[in-house]
Amino acid sequence: MHDSPHHTAPSATSPGLVIVPRAEHALSRSQIASPALKVLYRLKTANYQAFLVGGGVRDVLLGLRPKDFDVATDALPEQVRATFSNCRLIGRRFRLAHVHFGGHIIEVATFRGAGAEGDSDGDVLVDERGRVLRDNVYGSLEEDAWRRDFTVNALYYSVEDFAIYDYVGGMADLRNRVLRLIGDPWTRYREDPVRMLRAVRFAAKLGFSLEARTAAALTELAGLLADISPARLYDESLKLFLGGHAAQTFTLLREHGLFGYLFPATEAVIRREGEQGPTLRLLNQAMVNTDQRIAEDKPVTPAFLFAALAWGPIREAVSARLEAGVPPAQAHFDATEAVEAAMPVLPPRRFRAPMQEIWRLQPRFESTTPKRATVLLAHPRFRAAYDFLLLRGHAGEVAEPILAWWTELQTAAAEEREALLQKTPQASATEAPSRRRRRRRAPRRRPEGAPTP
Ligand code: ATP
Ligand code: MG
Repeated sequence: MHDSPHHTAPSATSPGLVIVPRAEHALSRSQIASPALKVLYRLKTANYQAFLVGGGVRDVLLGLRPKDFDVATDALPEQVRATFSNCRLIGRRFRLAHVHFGGHIIEVATFRGAGAEGDSDGDVLVDERGRVLRDNVYGSLEEDAWRRDFTVNALYYSVEDFAIYDYVGGMADLRNRVLRLIGDPWTRYREDPVRMLRAVRFAAKLGFSLEARTAAALTELAGLLADISPARLYDESLKLFLGGHAAQTFTLLREHGLFGYLFPATEAVIRREGEQGPTLRLLNQAMVNTDQRIAEDKPVTPAFLFAALAWGPIREAVSARLEAGVPPAQAHFDATEAVEAAMPVLPPRRFRAPMQEIWRLQPRFESTTPKRATVLLAHPRFRAAYDFLLLRGHAGEVAEPILAWWTELQTAAAEEREALLQKTPQASATEAPSRRRRRRRAPRRRPEGAPTP
């Protein structure tokens, strides 16, 4: 299982191992955050193997700024803890050490075994669909490399000789800008379907193309996403859409048939409306805006993101209720309830209230009086709701005079506001069709909370 922790150089005899010496790669110590470097040296001094691995190595080699630095070692979790005073062990499925250094956390993982690749190791539990349930087996550096997801994520930088250790052809893939799943993609996605989302996320972030089999298996196995817990799907969704590359990620998710498993109702609406329809236009713009905010270091909230992701189905559900004669306010309320209840991926409660407010404030922009406009302007969620109104405007859902009036109002100085408030845009400037339909039919009140057809 775990070989002696006290030999520091990895075996150079493994077939396929490529060692890229310091002179032949672009990763220098100055690019590694100093807490990570300190952890590497401390482990080395304690006679353990210590490597930088994962996104830290990959991103630096690509000239990007890494989000975090992960360390892999042959020291067991308990040994890591004994080496650092500022260290906590976390995780149940697999024990990881978190080393705390002045506000930074360096994740230190013991080399993991190859059990997942289907050898007869009894410590690995696989469910009937081939998903790894438990694989807390430690192993060698080489085994650790093979159990990682993509070749470019399995490059190891050593502080022993400053070389990069590559067992899986990651350096070549990095040069060719190809994202390739290690091993058989069908097996590896079944083991952990989250890898499908990671494939799209890294392809979008790095601007890499998906290797043919990595892509083919992805599209074939998209349905496995249904097996992932909602909590993990939510975490991954944030990485997908709040990672600074949401526009491209969203396009790839749809292209590979994954989006429909995360947001089925939204995907269905997009298909009904077509590629030029309002829902896709709104979402594309929401993604572009999100990426821009992140690029400018402005805050982004899951509430706004999820409000946008579910808006298409809400718009449809509102229309259906209006056509059935439900009064507008109730139609709107019922629709948001119904759509939210059917979403497989939802933010935690603390984001759901603001998400609902963003939805529910929308009708108040479209038909207003000076008094109601004043109240809306002072609403704590006004700014988010107004930004959302602009998104809807971009999708052609809100009449231009209404957008212009609210934009003027919210940028106006206090003394100009009074005059503006006297010129509220006419409600007739809103979407005409539903209003006409509503007038023809006698409104029929549905009891609160009654099921809708
Ligand atoms: P970033 O941090 O920029 O999102 P990363 O590659 O560092 O990218 P992490 O989620 O931090 O991604 O994971 C660190 C490393 O752990 C990965 O590079 C990969 O080698 C391995 N890894 C993470 N998740 C999986 C997984 N589901 N299956 C196999 N290996 C994984
Ligand atoms: Mg990382």
